Amino acid sequence: MVAIWELLLLVLANHLLRASEAGARPCLRSAMGFDPSYCLSWRVAVEANNVRAWRTVPAQCVRYIEEYMVGGQYCRDLDTVVDQILAYLNGITAAADGLDAWILDVDDTCLSNTLYYKDKHFGGDPFDRMAFKSWALRGTSPAILAVLHLYRKLIERGFKVFLITGRDEEVFCSSTTQNLHAQGFTGYERLIMRSAEFRGAGATAFKSERRKQLVAEGFRIRGNVGDQWSDLLGDCAGDRIFKIPNPMYFVP
Ligand SMILES: [Mg+2]
Repeated sequence: MVAIWELLLLVLANHLLRASEAGARPCLRSAMGFDPSYCLSWRVAVEANNVRAWRTVPAQCVRYIEEYMVGGQYCRDLDTVVDQILAYLNGITAAADGLDAWILDVDDTCLSNTLYYKDKHFGGDPFDRMAFKSWALRGTSPAILAVLHLYRKLIERGFKVFLITGRDEEVFCSSTTQNLHAQGFTGYERLIMRSAEFRGAGATAFKSERRKQLVAEGFRIRGNVGDQWSDLLGDCAGDRIFKIPNPMYFVP
């Protein structure tokens, strides 16, 4: 018996030595099917805007992103961002002139498309314009609850909330308005959608132009919240910008 155990230990030691010589980490990768440390780095780089113009989640990270989105960490990250926004909000006051404004993006900021992306491997599949159009026209995207909570605080505190979205006005105006209202986003100042003149323009250019107009109208943009850097960069971005996590897609 002793000889058999000694033999087994020798085989195991030999296997680990060979794996180590090859520079592999067999236990971690084979047990989970992906390398979580690589995927965590990729996600952090995406959130920091260091990885740009990516079309799909890397194949080896699809399961990791799924786990991130539905396993609790995404919700925790959302709560952390909203806690920081609320802390900032506690230090500012809306003036009586009614010109203190906040900008919120719509898709995956106010309304969640995670259910749609579940069928698209959480961003592992390339963007499917027609399928997304059908989804958005249904107007059934649920609210992101942490952001709805923030939204209600902003309205309650007397700020003017402008929802600026890259969705095409002609196609999505009715479904988006209906969806927002059904999910509790009522009482905003304006829903600003992509008009015909901005078709094909990048989100940063379109959103910058709309924010500039608001500033020209006299509004002071106290905060700007979006899940894409293209919501937050450019002109008249606001006193503070807040990035909502989204590792499923990139909007230029
Ligand atoms: Mg968005």
